[in-house]
Amino acid sequence: MNRLAREANIKIRMVPANSRQRRAAKKIRPTFLTIHSTANHSSSATAMQHSRALCRGAFSNRSWHFTVDQYMVVQNLPLNESGWHAGTAAGNHNSLGIEMCEAENRGQNHFRTWDRAAKLVAVLMKRYNINLRHVVPHYHWTGKNCPTPLLSNGRPGPKWGWFLSRVDYYYRCINGGKPNR
Ligand SMILES: [Zn+2]
Repeated sequence: MNRLAREANIKIRMVPANSRQRRAAKKIRPTFLTIHSTANHSSSATAMQHSRALCRGAFSNRSWHFTVDQYMVVQNLPLNESGWHAGTAAGNHNSLGIEMCEAENRGQNHFRTWDRAAKLVAVLMKRYNINLRHVVPHYHWTGKNCPTPLLSNGRPGPKWGWFLSRVDYYYRCINGGKPNR
């Protein structure tokens, strides 16, 4: 588990505790993991840039726990605090929000971003004993087409199934070969 967490390369850049989002947060214990993608194709829309913008309040009331790109994961919120990302109270109060970057420029590799996110999800499943069935796209809570690159015609399909199979693979790597599904 520690090795997989190291591979995920998690940096910490917390939204300030006195920010509007954090003052409004509830104490939670996550039982779901909600996967998003940023839908921002700008070449500068990396994990660190998103986290900086989140920390200075550029996303108004929105907040989420992790931002992932092909190089790193940035943690933005404590994992026992709710974010505002799922579009429903049930989603926000029961899940951690994970945003995957879609920056497009030379050398960007979305597969590596999705693979890094899958490693992070496996580590969090293990830490909180979360079942693979509780690894859900934003779509699960509201029907939104998110994470767009992993949905098919706006719904979970073969690409989402592929992502879950990566998660399941990494989970079994850190759980003695046994799945949690
Ligand atoms: Zn989303």
